[in-house]
Amino acid sequence: MSAARRADEPLSAIFARLIATTGPISLQHYMGEANARYYAARDPLGGAGDFVTAPEISQMFGELIGLWLADMWLRAGRPAHVRYVELGPGRGTLARDALRAAGRAGLTPEVHLVEASAALRAVQKAALPQAQWHHDLASVPDDAPVLLVANEFLDALPVRQIVKAQDGWRERMVGHEDGRFVPVIGARPMDAAVPEAWRDAEPGTLIETCPGAAAAMSEVAGRLARHGGAALFIDYGHAEFRTGSTFQAVRAHSKVDPFVAPGEADLTALVDFATMADVAQAHGARWLGTTPQGEWLRALGIEARAAALAAHAPHQAAAVAAAKERLVSPDEMGALFKVMGLAAPDWPDGAGF
Ligand code: SAH
Repeated sequence: MSAARRADEPLSAIFARLIATTGPISLQHYMGEANARYYAARDPLGGAGDFVTAPEISQMFGELIGLWLADMWLRAGRPAHVRYVELGPGRGTLARDALRAAGRAGLTPEVHLVEASAALRAVQKAALPQAQWHHDLASVPDDAPVLLVANEFLDALPVRQIVKAQDGWRERMVGHEDGRFVPVIGARPMDAAVPEAWRDAEPGTLIETCPGAAAAMSEVAGRLARHGGAALFIDYGHAEFRTGSTFQAVRAHSKVDPFVAPGEADLTALVDFATMADVAQAHGARWLGTTPQGEWLRALGIEARAAALAAHAPHQAAAVAAAKERLVSPDEMGALFKVMGLAAPDWPDGAGF
């Protein structure tokens, strides 16, 4: 089969053939390839897409992030050469809003965007013509302070699941039976991959880890420790470690079965912020805190910003109030979403933590 035809072939057919040939694949493999395919060719954001993110709900989100970064930079002594780095910038909306707000405070950093999707890079180019693009954080120069932002990036990275079976820990794999993908228990013992405290857990206990998120965290922390800076990771997740699967799929604004049509839905897992903070600190960063998004945005002054926007454009007052509610209400994004702040050891504390 030619390469062009293979690219058109549904991922489900490729997975089915692979599993028939070599046996079940790991959940990490399934999720990683499915999301690479999902993001490569489409812009999934917005009403006509699959999901809506905070920066697409209101400009207030990006603006308050930009002001947070500018405040850190000012109190760190306004280092002259500083880079704005964003992981998974989507449509570039957050970066555009953040940089506009930061610019008013005198912060005009070099802009580096880490984006794997060709389709989204094209959208970002229109919003941020001055930016430089990277496939990986590794190619972003590492010789100056960094102001890094990642919103709904970590949740898209593939997770590994390990389950306690009767006779020990096993990896959760994906098989293909009667034309459907199904979770199955792997044959290889995985006890060595399980932290000591969990070795004797009850059968059925499931531990989810995200090696890609841990790798990103250690890389960011190392950069903060070496050259200074601060970082914000915003995502849905929990502040304390929990067991159980959080693997899920969203398509056209509804939850769907993640084992149906891989590559056609956004596959995600909740972020384990406790482990992220541990990894960041182990690699030399200072953990500023992990706070529910609603509380953090209120501490940063979203009420005053909403009032100013409404006063400026009274016909939009109801829309601004509704958008603010969506971002901060505990029934919407305010409690499930968390904001985690990191900084270099000699940088100041962050507002809102
Ligand atoms: N931050 C944006 C978009 C969130 S969607 C917003 O809040 O609107 C997830 C983003 O991460 C997309 O831009 C997607 O293309 C990117 N992404 C997902 N996996 C990636 C990977 N492994 N490497 C780089 N970018 C990735």
